Amino acid sequence: MTTAAAYSVSAPDGRFTKTTIERRELGPHDVLIDIKYAGICHSDIHTARNEWRGTKYPCVPGHEIAGLVAAVGSQVTKYQVGDRVGVGCMVDSCGECEPCVFGDQQYCERGATMTYNTTVAEELQPGGHTLGGYSTRIVVTEGFVVGIPEGIGLDEAAPLLCAGVTLFSPLRHWNAGPGKRVAIIGMGGLGHVGVKIAAAMGAEVTVLSHSLSKQDDGKRFGAHHYYATDDRQIFRDLRGRFDLIINTVSADLPIDTYLRLLKLDGTLVMLGLPENPLVVRPFSLTAARRSVAGSNIGGIPQTQEMLDFCAEHGIGAEIEVISADRIDDAYERVIASDVRYRFVIDAATM
Ligand SMILES: [Zn+2]
Ligand SMILES: [Zn+2]
Repeated sequence: MTTAAAYSVSAPDGRFTKTTIERRELGPHDVLIDIKYAGICHSDIHTARNEWRGTKYPCVPGHEIAGLVAAVGSQVTKYQVGDRVGVGCMVDSCGECEPCVFGDQQYCERGATMTYNTTVAEELQPGGHTLGGYSTRIVVTEGFVVGIPEGIGLDEAAPLLCAGVTLFSPLRHWNAGPGKRVAIIGMGGLGHVGVKIAAAMGAEVTVLSHSLSKQDDGKRFGAHHYYATDDRQIFRDLRGRFDLIINTVSADLPIDTYLRLLKLDGTLVMLGLPENPLVVRPFSLTAARRSVAGSNIGGIPQTQEMLDFCAEHGIGAEIEVISADRIDDAYERVIASDVRYRFVIDAATM
C-alpha cells in the first residue's frame, strides 16, 4: 500500500483538512502518479457539499489531475517513470459495452468508475470509494491515464482534463471549424477554454455572456464577437445566426429564446445542468429543423486528442494557482464567479 497526503472533507458543511490516505498496491496495469497540480471544478463543490446527494465521506474531490509517473506495473506499456500524464473524470469502466469499445467510456452502459465518490472494492481503493486528485499521489489503470505533451505546463493542463474535454468533445462532435459560427454561452471555467478551442478549430466564435466585464479576455482568447445577454436587442439581431450554441451555464436560461439564434439544422448543446426542466416550444425546433442536445465530458481517446490539439495550438487554461490550505476560500470564490478562470491546487503545498 502507498500512502499519500490529501485534503478531505468529512461532512457537507465541513472544511477541508489535511489527512493521509492509502492508495492501492500497484497492479500489473497500474500507474502510480505523483500529482503536481489538481484543478478545482464546480462538480467538486457540488460533491463535497452533498448538493447532488450521495456523497461518501470522507470525500477527496479532484478530477483535473496533472503529474509525473512515479512507478509502473509490470505489464504497463504506454508509460514510463517520469512521463508527464493526466487523469480526468474517470478512472475505469467496463471496457466491454458498445460505448466503451468505441472509446466513449463516459457513456459506459454499466456506469464508469468516476475519479472520486464512486463505490469500488476495498482492494481498488482502501475505504471503498474512489478518492480524487486533491492529493499527492494516485494509482490509476494505464488505460485511463493520458499523456500531457511538452508545450503545455502541467498547471495550465490540469483543468483541460475536465473543462477542456467537456468543450472539445461537443465542438468536435458537431463539427466546429472553418465556415461554422459557434456561440459559447458563459465565460467561466468551461466557457473560456471553449472559446480558445473553437477559435483554434477555425470557427467564427461568439461569446454570449451576462455582461461585457470579460470582453477583453474573450477577444484575447480568440472570440470574434462578444455580446451581453442583458441587452435584449441581441436576440433580435442574432436571430438565425449560429450553427452551434454551447451552453456552459447551469443557471436556468430562456432556452427557447436562444434556440431562435440557431440557423437551419443548428444545434444547441447543454453542458450545464440547470435545476428545472427546459421550456422548449416545438415551433422553435420545427421552424428551422433545430436540435437541442447534451454532452458529458469526453472519452479517453478524445481526451488525448484534445491534449495533443491544445499543445499544438498553444492552448492552456487560464489559472490561479493556490496552496492546498486555501481550498475553502477558493470554493467561495468559484461560487461568487470571482475567478479568472480556474483555480489549480499546487500539490507541493500538501
Ligand atoms: Zn469537472
Ligand atoms: Zn462500458
